[in-house]
Amino acid sequence: METKSYDLAVIGAGPGGYVAAIRAAQLGLSVACIEAEAALGGTCLRVGCIPSKALLESSEKYEEARHQLAVHGVIVGEVGLDLAAMMRRKEKVVAMLTRGIASLFKKNGIATIRGRATLLGGGRIAVAGTDGGRELEVTAARIVLAPGSVPSTIPGIALDGDCIGTSTEALAYSEVPAHLVVIGAGVIGLELGSVWRRLGAQVTVLEYLPRILPGTDDQIAEEALRLFQKQGIAFHLGARVTGARADGRGAVVEAEGMAPLQCDRVLVAVGRAPNTAGLGLEAAGVAVDRRGLIAVDAQYATSAPGVYAIGDVIAGPMLAHRAGEEGIACVERFVTGYGHVSYDALPAVVYTHPEIAAVGKTEQQAAAAGIACRVGTFPFRGNGRARTLEQVDGLVKVVADARTDRILGIHILGPRAGDMIAEAAVAVELAASSEDLARAVHAHPTLAEALKEAALAVDGRAIHA
Ligand code: FAD
Ligand code: NAD
Repeated sequence: METKSYDLAVIGAGPGGYVAAIRAAQLGLSVACIEAEAALGGTCLRVGCIPSKALLESSEKYEEARHQLAVHGVIVGEVGLDLAAMMRRKEKVVAMLTRGIASLFKKNGIATIRGRATLLGGGRIAVAGTDGGRELEVTAARIVLAPGSVPSTIPGIALDGDCIGTSTEALAYSEVPAHLVVIGAGVIGLELGSVWRRLGAQVTVLEYLPRILPGTDDQIAEEALRLFQKQGIAFHLGARVTGARADGRGAVVEAEGMAPLQCDRVLVAVGRAPNTAGLGLEAAGVAVDRRGLIAVDAQYATSAPGVYAIGDVIAGPMLAHRAGEEGIACVERFVTGYGHVSYDALPAVVYTHPEIAAVGKTEQQAAAAGIACRVGTFPFRGNGRARTLEQVDGLVKVVADARTDRILGIHILGPRAGDMIAEAAVAVELAASSEDLARAVHAHPTLAEALKEAALAVDGRAIHA
């Protein structure tokens, strides 16, 4: 069998693996990246962040054209939907970006090895199904595992890849379902539920907890729920789904305490699980935790010498930018001895309309950690730019340490919250106080002025409240 040797082998070309590979090559290491799928870019580019955002943008334009232009005095004729064209655009965006990773690999001299990797122990990796069907052995001084995650399901639900499916199917329905039942009011359920609601489906979300978006600030989540309900999504909270089955006409979903629901399609969005099947972890001595996530220390080192892990396959929020930052920090440590990820300043965005974005601690998390805090909020209805956009729903919330005034967290529900959170992330990263943010000059009229006003509100000084 042919053997190839490198300083570093990365398993998985998602946003964790491909970023790690590029940074390692920049630092002078010889690098191979092994990827089982034909397209590079992982879940994020193929069936995650990018296709979902493409559909969110397209469906929002459809919604705008149908319902939101008249108020601006823009009169359009009958608005139609060409779902196939919408899907083709999404695929074009995905193809362009995945090809972009391939050219970045080429530019950085990274060997792309196609095939499924299995650890053999001692720095050896078997790669099956490479181009031409050959088996290859790769040896490397260091190995970074970045195999990502796969959708989870729940007992009682057999995914059939069609009527009862996950986000992967919901990113590619060939027609708008008349009634879509979404199981789970987390990020995927709300983003993809929004897409299909805008395109004309009746959408019912069943959520086990008494709230949506666990982990999000309570006030923001409550306000977001109210807005999503107003948009026409039906929610059953406190509804633990126990089963779903296809019945020829579509599917029937069963949840505790409610009558069975008949629908056309079911989107199971109850979280994701580490993608470690067939990776050979046991043989290589790589330990996992009780949830099957690979256990790592602060340097991303696993229990096997020379083997590291990053991204969705280790504990932490499953976010593409977290995976990328870990990839950089992990390989920088190999070469420079130093690498760091600011987990306290890690932003997260839900790309619904309005968007929901957050960085740092919520008010509830600060209280649970025993930190006395002061809170400033500012509603977008007091923001001039939001008025001109005709998008006044939502608010900004700044949570600051009561003793030091250091910003602990910023939470935004509102138009373009995902772009605005960048300023908040820099503020948290640089340990800014609410006073710093309040004193910084913000251009007028911008949505970001709501951030400044929320910072001023920590001291009861908001101007337009
Ligand atoms: P992945 O992206 O999962 O990549 C792992 C790669 O490893 C895959 O390509 C896989 O084929 C390959 N692989 C696995 N095992 C092997 C093996 N044995 N041999 C060879 N190759 C292997 N995050 C955000 O930050 N923003 C978003 O807007 C966002 N939207 C999302 C929308 C959806 C619908 C989904 C499902 C996820 C979304 N996420 C988003 C989460 C994001 O996609 C993940 O956090 C991110 O992709 C994790 O990166 P990763 O590199 O750890 O793993
Ligand atoms: P999630 O963890 O965000 O939400 C899952 C929801 O399902 C939870 O609210 C949970 O209480 C509920 N649930 C679990 N079992 C249930 C049951 N039996 N009945 C009813 N409800 C049940 O998971 P997700 O939405 O599948 O997303 C997976 C991951 O992908 C997330 O960790 C997220 O970080 C990532 N992602 C991120 C983005 C983004 O950053 N914009 C977008 C999509 C996905």
